[in-house]
Amino acid sequence: MKIEDLKKSFREKSLSPITITEDLLEKIKKDDLNAYVTIDVKGAIAAAEAAEESFKKGKESPLTGIPIAIKDNICTKGIKTTCASNILSNFIPTYDAHVVEKLRAAGAVILGKANMDEFAMGSTTTTSNIGPTKNPWDKTKTPGGSSGGSAAAVAGGLCVASMGSDTGGSIRQPASFCGITGLKPTYGSVSRYGLVAFASSLDQIGPMARTAKDVATIYDVIKGHDKQDSTSVNMAYSPTPPKALDMKGIKIGVPREFFGEGLNPEIEKAVRDGTASFKELGATIVDIDLPHIRYGVAVYYIIATAEASSNLARYDGVRYGLRTGGAEDLINMYMETRAAGFNAEVKRRIMLGTYALSAGYYDQYYKKASQVRTLIIRDFNEAFKKCDMIAGPTTPTPAFGLTEMLDDPLSIYLLDIYTIPANLTGLPGLSIPCGFTGKKLPIGLQLMAPAFKEDMLLRAGISFQDHTTFHEARP
Ligand code: GLN
Repeated sequence: MKIEDLKKSFREKSLSPITITEDLLEKIKKDDLNAYVTIDVKGAIAAAEAAEESFKKGKESPLTGIPIAIKDNICTKGIKTTCASNILSNFIPTYDAHVVEKLRAAGAVILGKANMDEFAMGSTTTTSNIGPTKNPWDKTKTPGGSSGGSAAAVAGGLCVASMGSDTGGSIRQPASFCGITGLKPTYGSVSRYGLVAFASSLDQIGPMARTAKDVATIYDVIKGHDKQDSTSVNMAYSPTPPKALDMKGIKIGVPREFFGEGLNPEIEKAVRDGTASFKELGATIVDIDLPHIRYGVAVYYIIATAEASSNLARYDGVRYGLRTGGAEDLINMYMETRAAGFNAEVKRRIMLGTYALSAGYYDQYYKKASQVRTLIIRDFNEAFKKCDMIAGPTTPTPAFGLTEMLDDPLSIYLLDIYTIPANLTGLPGLSIPCGFTGKKLPIGLQLMAPAFKEDMLLRAGISFQDHTTFHEARP
């Protein structure tokens, strides 16, 4: 159910937050999607009881009684936060992430922690230490990643909404593979306090749900300044009116570079039909150019790995998580712990990033990547002189087989081509369902906007969904 409908039923007492929570917990236990790493039965029931009490007293907050899943790289006080990694498999945070605090304060019922690629590095949720999550539309396919558990839980009816994190596409890509709506907010608009860092200049937390309206409701709860995150932007954040945007007079830019070689023809058609729907609603469609976008993947996989190699240095067997016994001295303890604690993809990234930052190579790789990042930012600044929003595909392919491309990381990296620009530039991006392939796999359309224009993006998403039914389809 949608947040609004569920709350209405709670208010009218035709449904009870406790029953809904118990049903979902039961369903999660029986399910084979492998969408959750940890379920918090006690905490969820307690929150549902509090929600029921609130409704009895006629008091409610935006998310009272709404069952939500949290990606397992977002800290939850007293509940394991593993990042789907052996190195953190027993890590229990002593505090809640800022977003978790805000969700709890808004009345949300946190069901548990969602599966993901180890340390959010990946696009398939197959590198998790508890095994892959399956796509509810076709269980032989990947749900995408790295927030694949968060996406599959929503699409599979195992929660109403979820939180993901997006460093290079990890909210938008799984949202598109699972036929749901996902927002990567503007860098700095949602606090990263309590998010386990992967690449600090790119990471952003965001909401995933069936509809743009639900995503807007959650975004309004979690956004805003937080002094515990030094990159959190201190400004007046206005609420998003949960209403369709009048598309008349809105210019939507369609980048020529987004429709090149490698784009699946069924996706191209669905996305073109999607932009045609916006046109019917009154928008003007204009062609735009983003000439440096073709370097995006290369730039991202230098910057992200460099930052990751630095961020992941803290897992040393001393302060957090796993320590393997029996080493002769400190250096060997570090080496043995890290060798046992990380899986192949994380090791690959640490090695690539360490190389890119090393003396003699820094200028050639990290510095050059940072400079090209600036050129990509300029491309978008230029583009937004010609349009209000940008539309294109979220991904070049639909969901692929769970075991496909496992031995070919480079091909998987290349699939991030359309999502990476929002992270390199800090801009917001929204993926909304816009169709299905002949084999009934969901297709996503990505909308991008200037910084802090989430209200415009989300309200354009609402207009689209008022006009289409793709978001209503169920696996
Ligand atoms: N697929 C990208 C990667 O592997 C993005 C991951 C993310 O956004 N966390 O790095």
